[in-house]
Amino acid sequence: MSIKYKTLSELKELLEKKDISSFELVEETFKNISSSKTNSFITLNEEVALTKAKEFDQGECEGDLAGLPIAQKDLFCTKNLRTTCGSRILENFIPPYNATVVENLSKAGSICVGKTNMDEFAMGSSNETSYFGAVKNPWDLERVPGGSSGGSAAAVAEGLVCAATGTDTGGSIRQPAALCGITGIKPTYGRASRWGMIAFASSLDQAGAFARNAEDCALLLNHICSHDEKDSTSLSNDKENYLENINNDLKGKKIGIVKEFDISNLSKEVQDSFEQSKKIFESLGANFVEVSMPNIKLSVPTYYVVAPAECSSNLSRFDGVKYGYRAENVNDLEDLYIKSRSEGFGDEVKRRILIGTYVLSAGFYDAYYKKAQQSRRMIKNDFVKAFSEVDVIMSPSSPSSAFKIGSKTEDPIEMYLEDLFTISSNLAGVPAMSIPHGFSKNLPIGLQLIGNYLEESEILNFAHQYQKNTDWHIRNPDFGDNS
Ligand code: GLN
Repeated sequence: MSIKYKTLSELKELLEKKDISSFELVEETFKNISSSKTNSFITLNEEVALTKAKEFDQGECEGDLAGLPIAQKDLFCTKNLRTTCGSRILENFIPPYNATVVENLSKAGSICVGKTNMDEFAMGSSNETSYFGAVKNPWDLERVPGGSSGGSAAAVAEGLVCAATGTDTGGSIRQPAALCGITGIKPTYGRASRWGMIAFASSLDQAGAFARNAEDCALLLNHICSHDEKDSTSLSNDKENYLENINNDLKGKKIGIVKEFDISNLSKEVQDSFEQSKKIFESLGANFVEVSMPNIKLSVPTYYVVAPAECSSNLSRFDGVKYGYRAENVNDLEDLYIKSRSEGFGDEVKRRILIGTYVLSAGFYDAYYKKAQQSRRMIKNDFVKAFSEVDVIMSPSSPSSAFKIGSKTEDPIEMYLEDLFTISSNLAGVPAMSIPHGFSKNLPIGLQLIGNYLEESEILNFAHQYQKNTDWHIRNPDFGDNS
């Protein structure tokens, strides 16, 4: 039986009915991975995964996700399993502990088959900054899968795994989900623990999930989200069952369209898909309301001060002494720091550290960092006001479909604009997701749904109702004609 493109819930049912064993499932997964051409994994966990699968088959482990193979973004620390964060500086780093998200998913019985490729330290929108090579989009191997969680998105889109974790600091779950034609969700900041996640920009980083549909994302969030005493920014809210409300009626619900998100200059396909999706929601009883968010235009510049500032501080721990790569033939301690960091980090990471150090320096702090914090608050206030008028906000997830590998690497600003629609939700901390809603020349296009604080259930409800009435989410690279 082919397990390719099966959803998490379908595989769960097959296991429950004993139509397939977990061992067969895991074995088949590794077979598929070995013939894949997308470069979506950095490290495989074959021996441990097969042993766990056997234990499940012998009735020795249980849980909501028991026996199901999933992939972890290589930014989550995994006990005794190499964790590189896509960087040379951590090429040989083997963590002695599991990140809380990894631990939660493992407690639910899922089996980690490997660590997925990603932009170095999650900085990028194309997966081209990885030390382990670019990831290819399974819909077109000459194109990027998006980033930074490109390996996770490509692995799910290619049907190698039915689910994977990701992290989203400015769009790294939603943009690759969009470019790969799958569903991805980033919860409210603080809903999932950041403990054991290698930090990029701590006030923006948030863990989340990729799957083939919204229902599976809800199931995954049930385990990913938890209160964690080890993370001081973890919210103390009770655990929630995100599957509970996905079948609610959308009649009378209000969807906000942001006046300042100008989509008239985007491709015809992106605009047409957007109009088509509006009609579907209208037919389900929802109403559209225009909301004004005047400060949203400040999102990209604000992010590119705040995120580099935080990264310059977070990445100072990688000094060639405490972790990972250490340069050889050095003259003294300072030389060791300089050489280890110069050789261990890639260009994009260095660019961010330089910008971050500059905006935090005594002479420029007020002009850049303080200003960015002020505009961040204004953006947040725009969301608070908008959500007093509407239930969800809808926009394209990304300005275009997947672009050619190499086509934006020379122009960082153009790459940064990939996150035009996603970054503001990280600055405000609200939950957001992307679902597939059309194609542009056989390449998927994503629709973004943004929710109010802690309203993951609301956006999952919208997404699930949409998917019950459309078939974009069941398309896959082997599906045939998508025109
Ligand atoms: N593309 C954005 C960046 O490079 C966002 C990355 C992310 O969400 N991790 O910073």
